[in-house]
Amino acid sequence: MSAYQHILLAVDCSEHGAIVARRAKDLAKKYQAKLSLIYVLDNIPMPDTTYGTVISLVEDSGYELLEAEKAKLMQIGGQWGVDQENRWMIWGAPKQEIIQLAEREQVDLIVVGSHGRHGLSLLLGSTANSVLHHAKCDVMAIRLLNA
Ligand code: AMP
Repeated sequence: MSAYQHILLAVDCSEHGAIVARRAKDLAKKYQAKLSLIYVLDNIPMPDTTYGTVISLVEDSGYELLEAEKAKLMQIGGQWGVDQENRWMIWGAPKQEIIQLAEREQVDLIVVGSHGRHGLSLLLGSTANSVLHHAKCDVMAIRLLNA
């Protein structure tokens, strides 16, 4: 059995996400692992509707901001060859949702950037730090110091 069977790539749609995505893709190829993608929405207000926290990527919500975020995720998923059913968009706090999805989907490696939209270039970002400390599986933080 190979070391990793299911790799979860966490993206925040920041400009250096491609560096993280490339590494996750390479690892998935190397280990012939399933590759999943998660983007947690913490930057636009959740509409006051009956939405659950897991957002359907196939139905049109009629909510412009949400559709714009979905388009970003779909673009990244397509670019990195992540199967449609392995793309996740969830409302909530990134660190919690990443960890929860990883447990639910039996992920054995989470790949995050060392910082993202909120990070300072010389510090391990708060999402990366939290995932590293609380995940039950392996976590790889891709160094983004010069990104
Ligand atoms: P940060 O801790 O915000 O500086 O981000 C570090 C890394 O955590 C990013 O490079 C992403 O891999 C991941 N991350 C941060 N925010 C999100 C998010 N909203 N959804 C998915 N992954 C995220």
